[in-house]
Amino acid sequence: MMADANKAYVGPIPSGKKIKIVFVIGGPGSGKGTQCSKIVNQFGYTHLSAGDLLREEVKSNTEQGTMIQNFMHEGKLVPSDVSVRLLLKAILASGNDKFLIDGFPRNEENREAYEKIINIDPEFVLLIDCSREEMERRILHRNQGRDDDNMDTIRRRFQVFQESTLPVIQHYEKMGKLRRVMWNLEYNMIKLYIVSTQ
Ligand code: UDP
Ligand code: MG
Repeated sequence: MMADANKAYVGPIPSGKKIKIVFVIGGPGSGKGTQCSKIVNQFGYTHLSAGDLLREEVKSNTEQGTMIQNFMHEGKLVPSDVSVRLLLKAILASGNDKFLIDGFPRNEENREAYEKIINIDPEFVLLIDCSREEMERRILHRNQGRDDDNMDTIRRRFQVFQESTLPVIQHYEKMGKLRRVMWNLEYNMIKLYIVSTQ
């Protein structure tokens, strides 16, 4: 039987290479991907979306793909070793040394697995702060054909964000790594001003 490529050994990252990582975190539909594409164009980062890497893996029709699809359909987080390995593989494949990682880490277990396997201290963590109303509006209007963009799964994703992602945000806040940016409802866009540098 052929070995599953994603369970195979990848890494480590060459130790002489100084790699910069920025995490971009926010609730479901808060605009992480949208803002990352803007930052990438201006600052030469490579944008890695944990969700997109997982969706790519689902398309591969492997057993692992089906497993990922089931987690995502229910709005649950996939096991950390899967997401961390996909991120590591993408970092190694890119050749760049600056990465915006969007939608990760989403719980403390993700963070711990990242620290164990990739272990590059993030420069900072960008939190996109957005009201639940606005996030819901954005998800229901985006029409990307995602099967987790339905009301039942959305509810579950908000719950996961509250219960599992907030502790990660608090962790980075304690470490002084959190940079919070907010939606500017007046302009209906994110105004990238830094609300807190704590
Ligand atoms: N997901 C995950 N681990 C990650 C990132 C994403 O398990 O590190 C899964 C999870 O099921 C999540 C889904 O992928 O609900 C979609 O995540 P994405 O960031 O693409 O979308 P968002 O919910 O922010 O719109
Ligand atoms: Mg996204």
